[in-house]
Amino acid sequence: MVVAETVAGLGAIRTAFDLAKTIKDLDDRTRRNEAIIDLQQKILTAQEAQAALIKRISELEADLAGMKTWEAEKKRYELRDLRLGFFAYIPKEGMENGEPAHAICANCYQRGFKSILHLNNTLDARDRTWDCSACKAKIRNQRSDMAALIKECRASIS
Ligand SMILES: [Zn+2]
Repeated sequence: MVVAETVAGLGAIRTAFDLAKTIKDLDDRTRRNEAIIDLQQKILTAQEAQAALIKRISELEADLAGMKTWEAEKKRYELRDLRLGFFAYIPKEGMENGEPAHAICANCYQRGFKSILHLNNTLDARDRTWDCSACKAKIRNQRSDMAALIKECRASIS
């Protein structure tokens, strides 16, 4: 996408440059005016290509900044089986950064972003789920207290 826009923009600039050289040698006023209009069109095309490139570069820079943030953030987490095959990423001990007890979706972690699991609580414990709003994962038959799940998970390994 960026390469194609760059090539198109460079092509328009090259054509405009060639046209400008031709205009210099034109004696006929009508032909010269037509060539000037054509030149203005080529310059406009080049400017549009440049604007598209600048916009795309900004988007890519934002994507890169997001990926760098995620690369740093993901190191705070570790994959754990919280209970009965409830796999999720939880903050490593000492890396909670003052945040409340939480777990992030293992699917979304693998896909490169953080999605906190939310409790979908009902009166009937059998229908209770921990849900990921991003990938729509639902983890059933779990306790409703994330702090307790994390505490027991950590205790079971020591
Ligand atoms: Zn998810």
